[in-house]
Amino acid sequence: MRAMVIEEFGGPLVAKDIPVPEPGPGEVLVAVRACAVDRFDVAIRKGRRERSTFPHILGHEIAGQVAEVGDGVTKWDIGDRIAATLYLVCGTCRWCRSGRETICENFGGHVGVAIPGGYAEYLVLPEHNLVSLPETIDFPAGSVLANAIGTPYHALKYRMNLRPGEKLIVTGAGGGVGLHAVQLGVMLGAEVMAVDMGHAKLSKAKELGAAITIDPRVQKIRDAANRWTNGVGVDGVLELVGPATMPETLASLAKGGRMVIVGSHSGAEWSIDPGDIYRNEWEIKGSRNVSATELAEVIELVADGAITPIVAGTFPLEEAESLQKRVTTGKVVGREVLIP
Ligand SMILES: [Zn+2]
Repeated sequence: MRAMVIEEFGGPLVAKDIPVPEPGPGEVLVAVRACAVDRFDVAIRKGRRERSTFPHILGHEIAGQVAEVGDGVTKWDIGDRIAATLYLVCGTCRWCRSGRETICENFGGHVGVAIPGGYAEYLVLPEHNLVSLPETIDFPAGSVLANAIGTPYHALKYRMNLRPGEKLIVTGAGGGVGLHAVQLGVMLGAEVMAVDMGHAKLSKAKELGAAITIDPRVQKIRDAANRWTNGVGVDGVLELVGPATMPETLASLAKGGRMVIVGSHSGAEWSIDPGDIYRNEWEIKGSRNVSATELAEVIELVADGAITPIVAGTFPLEEAESLQKRVTTGKVVGREVLIP
């Protein structure tokens, strides 16, 4: 099969012909029909702890069709359309049994990191990573469901418990995850302030329902939030950026406000006064991707037209390198998708 591989961390993406992998017991061979490219791919390529064998295949945002099933797999048939979750989980620990498998005690790493990913014609996945994808959702849209939509869905609905009438700030609102977070915030009945840099991203966020848009290079987030809420502050902050925006977004929270942190690509350290947290009864929570059950909910929302997957374009597998370059510029509006 054709695959784009790296031969070492930091090395180039190279087109290669390699054998089609075989599914073991409880596994499924998936014919990849679409694989979205995100910033995380670039981080993995630079060097991540979970993987040590090469050549390695990146790619964890996958939609495709079942091509072969391993022993003991009864739920899936050849030709079934699927979207896939991207975490390798045990299925038996207390978190997996309670529907919170993204914090699995025996977390086995990510698809496309700990095991070969979707920059290829085929990959093997555990059967419980697959969720059925209806005919009404095409494969490029299907590839962005688990990460770009599932991540903010879990964060806003189940971690923040965002309620109708609340005011929400989304940072990184013009990116692949952010544009779907804006839509989800609006769908859940909130008013959304979209924060990102540049006109293209902010106008897309506006088009998707953001009440106001802020470029933090032009005005301070806390000043904008203050004016927007008549000095009260916002009910929720969805942080997709990290320390570059956190001091401003935290200062924008109302008393009793909730911040949910989903990503931190702008750095690893952030200092905070604990007194601010207890005096205001702020809640600061983490949120990690999406469970398979929640992904099935996302698929229903997309099939019903409640959420529109934002696919910025589709490209042949061999263009993986240029897609990775573009995703790091921060200029891609939505997700770009490879078609093997
Ligand atoms: Zn587990």
